Amino acid sequence: MSPAHVNVLLDAETIQRRVAELGAEITRDYRDKDLVTIGCLKGSTVFMSDLVRTIDLPLRMDYLGLRSYEGTQSTGVVQITSDLTRPIDGCDVLIVEDIVDTGLTMSYLLENLATRHPRSVKLCSLLHKPARTRVKVDIHYLGFTIEDHFVVGYGLDYDELYRNVPFIGILDPSK
Ligand code: 5GP
Repeated sequence: MSPAHVNVLLDAETIQRRVAELGAEITRDYRDKDLVTIGCLKGSTVFMSDLVRTIDLPLRMDYLGLRSYEGTQSTGVVQITSDLTRPIDGCDVLIVEDIVDTGLTMSYLLENLATRHPRSVKLCSLLHKPARTRVKVDIHYLGFTIEDHFVVGYGLDYDELYRNVPFIGILDPSK
């Protein structure tokens, strides 16, 4: 699927290459650990499904529903809409996120997960938009740094559309 009104920012091949590099790095770092990847619904589902297949280790996958965005404006209000299916105490948690924008969602989630006594918590984000940072969060594994654009595709939506576009792009406002 390649809608004419989405201008390509990162093509599918570039994304897949970087995902494989991140997977190799995570594989090296998590040997002999009790890895649980936690994906943030719904934006990180596409990234997480590709990423886990490049991690050559036993792992468990879980998901959290988070809501922090209305339309294209960050509200700063974060809500857990569906919780993890299992406890994470003693686990080595890797949060898998589509994009860190203001940082509000991740700083809330990092604080929330810390109260559940995991052995470690790290963050892997496909994208980072540093121009919009309001709260600084450490991204241990980062795919790409991007400029201040509203992007769609590869899991990222605009009003629930475009998640299945295989590349990351910018909506063309003239169309
Ligand atoms: P933050 O709390 O860091 O401002 O925002 C995190 C969430 O906002 C992301 O998980 C994502 O759902 C949404 N978001 C932020 N920037 C974008 C963007 O450029 N495109 C889309 N589709 N969602 C975004």
